[in-house]
Amino acid sequence: MSKLKVLLASSEVYGFAKVGGLGDVAYALPKALRSLGVDARIIAPMHRKKGRKVGTINVKLGKRDVQAEIYLSRVNSVPLYLIGGGGYFPRNQVYGYEDDFERYLFFSKAIVEFLKGYNFWKPNILHLNDWHTGLTAAYVKSEGFPIKTLFTIHNLGYQGDVDTSKLNLLNLEEDITDLIIHNNRINPMKAGIVLSDAVNTVSVKYSKEIQTPEFGFGLDSVLREIKDKLYGIINGIDYSVWNPIRDPYIYRKYSTRTLERKEENKKMLSSEMKIKPSDKPLIGIVSRLTHQKGIDVFLEAIEEFLEDRTVSLVLLGSGEDYIENKAKAICDEFSDVVGISIKYDEVLAHKIYAGSDMFAVPSRYEPCGLTQMIAMRYGSVPIVRNTGGLSDTVIDPNENKNCARGFKFESLDVEAIKKALSRAIDVYENNREYWKILQLNGMRADFSWRGSARKYLALYKRVLSS
Ligand code: ADP
Repeated sequence: MSKLKVLLASSEVYGFAKVGGLGDVAYALPKALRSLGVDARIIAPMHRKKGRKVGTINVKLGKRDVQAEIYLSRVNSVPLYLIGGGGYFPRNQVYGYEDDFERYLFFSKAIVEFLKGYNFWKPNILHLNDWHTGLTAAYVKSEGFPIKTLFTIHNLGYQGDVDTSKLNLLNLEEDITDLIIHNNRINPMKAGIVLSDAVNTVSVKYSKEIQTPEFGFGLDSVLREIKDKLYGIINGIDYSVWNPIRDPYIYRKYSTRTLERKEENKKMLSSEMKIKPSDKPLIGIVSRLTHQKGIDVFLEAIEEFLEDRTVSLVLLGSGEDYIENKAKAICDEFSDVVGISIKYDEVLAHKIYAGSDMFAVPSRYEPCGLTQMIAMRYGSVPIVRNTGGLSDTVIDPNENKNCARGFKFESLDVEAIKKALSRAIDVYENNREYWKILQLNGMRADFSWRGSARKYLALYKRVLSS
């Protein structure tokens, strides 16, 4: 069989434009695929003008003809096609405009025009990601374009839906339009789900959860209907960035064989965050402070432990006011054991992974989650809610004593979190030998992109033969 060719379409690519985990995936996965012999390339909106102009294409939006420009660039050694023009791209921000639907409709349609117009390179698989590219699946079907499509859901909470007054922009037949309307709204996320040849999410557990009303954001019944073509593949983390042996940002580098040096990272982190050095466990948090992440409840649960000075806490993140304020209040009250930093700070994040003993991820829902995997790679033992990718990557001693690498709790309530914290503290204080096993199990686990890329490759092949 000739070389598999994959075009990955994403609104974000780290290095050009990144808002969340999607940017990391679009950056890392194509490179990992190429190292497996796949000719993987990327197509993205031109958030920044870069590269060489290679052509123009016509994109029809309703009655208007809009000219799109195509630029060719490279990212992470992977060819990258950038689509701009029409006043849609570039702009200052990736999202957040009144006409976001129209911008990404333009991009979605331009992808198909690009494939039709640029037939020197004919991919076998079009890998679409999140709502921004969902409508592309509709145009591929509508035109009968010969390519297989995989649609990846990174976060079902964002569907890009708009009211039906925008229908006239679509130029789609009625039978296809009917399929992409949900609750009387045009829903690009639904378009990707129902019209692609296969669908996956970024963990196996999340792929099951989204079929339930609790996690389905109104699309659970749609997802149940297509469950036979729905898969879960966990994301990887970038090992060239996240590696305590070579990390230039941390105070003292260490490995599984020099784990005692982690102690120095803890001391220096405590000093930088202006808390008392202590031999009690230091809990780290690095997170967007949004409702999704459950930090509000976690801060309530930890109060009693801070009062008793049984743990200390270092928190880095920013987001919604009520969570930021809660963090500040706790820091004011327990300033000798709580250090917080309300901002985005790449370097401090590395120091927290290296300097903490435990790492909390109490998310309400978590499609994949990267921070728990990074924490484990740095020998910081995660305490997580048993949901989505957290569930798939952390193993609790109650599940498997020998392979355990963290602690899980079921429901997001104060009592459940306290219980998990107590279990972790008990091992830390009374069974150091086992604590070290938990750390080493995490550090030795394989969270690399290579493993995930293999799974994507297998899924592409499955889609091709379907
Ligand atoms: P999400 O994409 O939902 O924000 P993930 O766990 O998938 O959550 O990815 C979060 C990434 O962002 C991790 O690499 C984490 O280290 C980083 N991060 C989150 N908040 C901050 C912050 N305040 N400063 C630095 N890095 C952060």
